[in-house]
Amino acid sequence: RGLAIGIDIGGTKVAAGVVDPRGVVLDQRRRLTPGNDPRAVEATIVELVQELSAGHRVLSVGIGAAGWMDLSSSTVLFSPHLAWRNEPLRANLERLLRRPVVLSNDADAAGWAEWRFGAGRGQSRLVCVTLGTGIGGAMVMDSRLERGRFGLAGEFGHQVIMPQGHRCECGNRGCWEQYASGNALGREARELARAKSPVAQELLRRVDGDVDAITGTVVTELALAGDAACRELVEEVGEWLGLGLANLAAALDPGLFVIGGGLCEAGEMLLAPARRSFARNLTGRGFRPAAPISLAALGPGAGMIGAADLSRVSSRSRP
Ligand code: BGC
Ligand code: ZN
Repeated sequence: RGLAIGIDIGGTKVAAGVVDPRGVVLDQRRRLTPGNDPRAVEATIVELVQELSAGHRVLSVGIGAAGWMDLSSSTVLFSPHLAWRNEPLRANLERLLRRPVVLSNDADAAGWAEWRFGAGRGQSRLVCVTLGTGIGGAMVMDSRLERGRFGLAGEFGHQVIMPQGHRCECGNRGCWEQYASGNALGREARELARAKSPVAQELLRRVDGDVDAITGTVVTELALAGDAACRELVEEVGEWLGLGLANLAAALDPGLFVIGGGLCEAGEMLLAPARRSFARNLTGRGFRPAAPISLAALGPGAGMIGAADLSRVSSRSRP
């Protein structure tokens, strides 16, 4: 009863699931995000909805996507990691699926899920940061998602923290997500491997010498298995994470930060250096409360769970 499908479309992976009203996932599927083609992404969504609704009585469908939704949640204005440019995604999907669809930003969906069912329960000012291909952001303030005037609030990943730094897919240089995302971790590791450093031996062995096959996930796995170089790389990303969180605390003063996304699989190895660098960079440290930093309780599944839940909330309040 009251089941919803949630689909989280990230820059790399699509996660879809049937979710009950308490946020429990009853059935799920995973795919790689089909490359540079909006039609292929739509086709994947249709396929997943058909597969998942075959075995369950599903009342609504919610999509959380790595794109910038306009305030009415009909159009994806832009996406740094996917092919959407001014794409009327909701209308397209409603035509293909012949049922209402609720769109959200992927990080908004994850933040919402953590607030409803996860690490952020009961928080009045929650900031959620997701680390995957990019960095996503969400704010749940006084029980609602804060989306800004144009629907574009929370794009924390594109705050410039390093002028003249690495080029970002959004068009700028030095964005936070170029330093503290899964992609950033992969890029740093590839650089290390290309430098033919002996410390990268294990890393190169793991990908049979194919440097391009080194991704953030590969580095995280090796780091968790105890490889020293990969551990260092994860810790470095953690330090950048903490610095960015200190900036967010200066701007938003939340009661809690929740860290989600694929990279949160690294767990405390990532969070311990993040907490240290947060404490070192927080303005007014020593004279003010410092918000705690927690891992997402729902893990990388938060986006899918939140997208499903938001579809339930919104379809109820829709005319
Ligand atoms: C995008 C966000 C998205 C995030 C995580 C960023 O690059 O701008 O909209 O939430 O990546 O996928
Ligand atoms: Zn950017």
